[in-house]
Amino acid sequence: MSFIEISEVGPRDGLQSIEPIMPTAAKKAWIAAEAAAGIREIEVGSFVPAKLLPQLADTAELVAYARTLPGLTVAVLVPNLKGAEAAIAAGAHKITIPISISETHSLANVRRTHVQMIEETRRIAELIAAQPEDQRPKFEGGLSTAFGCTLEGMVPEAVLLGLAEQLMEAGCDEVGLSDTTGYANPAQVKRLIRAVRGVVGEEACSGVHLHNTRGLGLANALAALEEGITTLDSSLGGIGGCPFAPGASGNIVTEDLVFMLQSMGFETGIDLDRLLQVRELVQAALPDTELYGFTAEAGVPKGFAGGAY
Ligand code: ZN
Repeated sequence: MSFIEISEVGPRDGLQSIEPIMPTAAKKAWIAAEAAAGIREIEVGSFVPAKLLPQLADTAELVAYARTLPGLTVAVLVPNLKGAEAAIAAGAHKITIPISISETHSLANVRRTHVQMIEETRRIAELIAAQPEDQRPKFEGGLSTAFGCTLEGMVPEAVLLGLAEQLMEAGCDEVGLSDTTGYANPAQVKRLIRAVRGVVGEEACSGVHLHNTRGLGLANALAALEEGITTLDSSLGGIGGCPFAPGASGNIVTEDLVFMLQSMGFETGIDLDRLLQVRELVQAALPDTELYGFTAEAGVPKGFAGGAY
């Protein structure tokens, strides 16, 4: 069966959503432990001003460290050209610029309109193109609030498709659908993947970023898999949670996602037992933060060998 890439986003999406600041040494140990468990892509941080997100102030150091881990793709988020300059200087392998389909959300978050964000994307693409060929990071446009927005409610599909097309024209290598708010449902996941691919082509839309705010995270992941999506974002222990939905994890839980994939016969390259052990290290560094996940709680089934059964 086919290979599914898990992109661990806990060190970025998870940590930016909680108050405690994880010490840099603990972050490095976390990243190294997940890489050793077989995770091949980790979003280690975001190049935003430290005064906005002090939790991620050490992103440059983490990129430099993560680059020393063999076979690991080091990903980061950048909100603008300045962030992209820092990401390239640090040596990130992959950079993602998030663009909110809800313009209200975009203005509230990054104080930029859609037109300004596309212009920023174009400048970043030019910066990347100016790098030596072997040092150019992969460039993704993240279509955030694609499934709905806490400020605007439902977002028009036409706006989503228009922005997907403009991001590609501006120089992104691919676009990814992002359920920032946990509004997605499986039918919508399927419909929007098909619609976006209809505009940008199948190759240019291979990953989705899902949250579990309303308990539909894994159902949405399965829907995405059925559409042929090959990269799924998730976070160890589902760190981040949602202040409005007690008990709900933030991103989908990496351990549960890996269990689902492996029990269905997908290849992930990940050692589930080793992955589950990483939780201890993260919990020790964040003693007051809740870690989520059913597989850790229940244990892997008797006789589970990581293959289809
Ligand atoms: Zn997210």
